[in-house]
Amino acid sequence: MKEFTYIRAATLTDLPTGATIIAGGTNLLDLMKHEVMTPGALVDISRTGNDQVEVSGEGLRIGAMVRNSDLATNQIVRRHYPVLSRALLAGASGQLRNMATTGGNLMQRTRCPYFYDTRMACNKRSPGAGCAARGGVTRNHAIFGTSEHCIASHPSDMAVAMCALDAEVEIVGPESRRVPLDQFYRLPGDRPDIETVLQPGEAIAAVHLPAPAGGVQRYRKVRDRASYAFALVSVAAVAVLVSGRIERIALAFGGVAPKPWRNRSVEQALTGETPSPALFSNAADILLADAAGQGGNDFKLPLLRRTLTAVLHDVTEARA
Ligand SMILES: Cc1cc2nc3c(=O)[nH]c(=O)nc-3n(C[C@H](O)[C@H](O)[C@H](O)COP(=O)(O)OP(=O)(O)OC[C@H]3O[C@@H](n4cnc5c(N)ncnc54)[C@H](O)[C@@H]3O)c2cc1C
Ligand code: SF4
Repeated sequence: MKEFTYIRAATLTDLPTGATIIAGGTNLLDLMKHEVMTPGALVDISRTGNDQVEVSGEGLRIGAMVRNSDLATNQIVRRHYPVLSRALLAGASGQLRNMATTGGNLMQRTRCPYFYDTRMACNKRSPGAGCAARGGVTRNHAIFGTSEHCIASHPSDMAVAMCALDAEVEIVGPESRRVPLDQFYRLPGDRPDIETVLQPGEAIAAVHLPAPAGGVQRYRKVRDRASYAFALVSVAAVAVLVSGRIERIALAFGGVAPKPWRNRSVEQALTGETPSPALFSNAADILLADAAGQGGNDFKLPLLRRTLTAVLHDVTEARA
């Protein structure tokens, strides 16, 4: 590990320029040990407050330092946003969730193995170096939103559920603002090293959830092991049925794109309709029309179809 200086911040509004934020450290410290990230200075935000889940307007404000385990077990989250609680509990391990934070989870880096191996070419680690994953082992890579420069997927479960809940990210810095989570992440294009709309000197202060959507909520994650593994494919769903028809539905997909993947055309095709196998099959067709496998992850296309179909059956047959 390279030498670095360490500063502890008192508030999120006076972060030193040029320093890399450390929150729970569960991802950043691994990256530093592998010398994938070599910051000269760390700023620790763990004592800046921002560790509360608060009712805000009709929704919820989740501070950036709220630990994943505290968020998963929060009574309001469990009762009104169960898809979020389920997604959190499907991630990592109990010990990791005790350290991992809301801001750090959103900002965690990809699990592309070539990104972690500094002997391999990686445009995300070293812009312009090339992409060793192309033509390599692509089991956990993306099928949507890739570019010729990067085919990595985003690893967060929490972000997928938040995306289906229409969450917004509160950014603090020279231009404090709120950004829909769906627009917070950038697709790789020709700059896979720039992953979000965060500018230098900015930090995530909180995540806002709108008023509870109600209905039936599900998070289904398919992975290589029953626990302690990242998603190959995941589906977050929030569905409201009225008189046997789908009144509203929000869907987000994990493990398949460089960001939590949302496709409004799929939701539109389902809205107002009576659930049926043919309807679900049509929804999967629309979703997969944009998909492209990389070879080693071609299995994700039929897997995503089956997972989406299973979740649609589940949310439309269950009682709210
Ligand atoms: C073995 C293992 C298994 C895992 N399995 C899963 C899994 O199945 N599903 C899943 O979703 N995750 C999984 N994780 C990832 C884990 O959830 C993340 O490591 C964790 O959420 C990161 O949070 P942190 O607070 O520790 O972030 P840190 O490691 O402190 O930071 C991560 C990144 O976020 C930046 N950052 C942190 N806070 C902020 C902020 N407020 N504003 C701006 N930038 C910020 C840091 O600069 C850094 O780049 C796993 C991790 C490990 C080690
Ligand atoms: S897929 Fe992205 S992260 Fe992986 S090696 Fe290629 S550029 Fe790097």
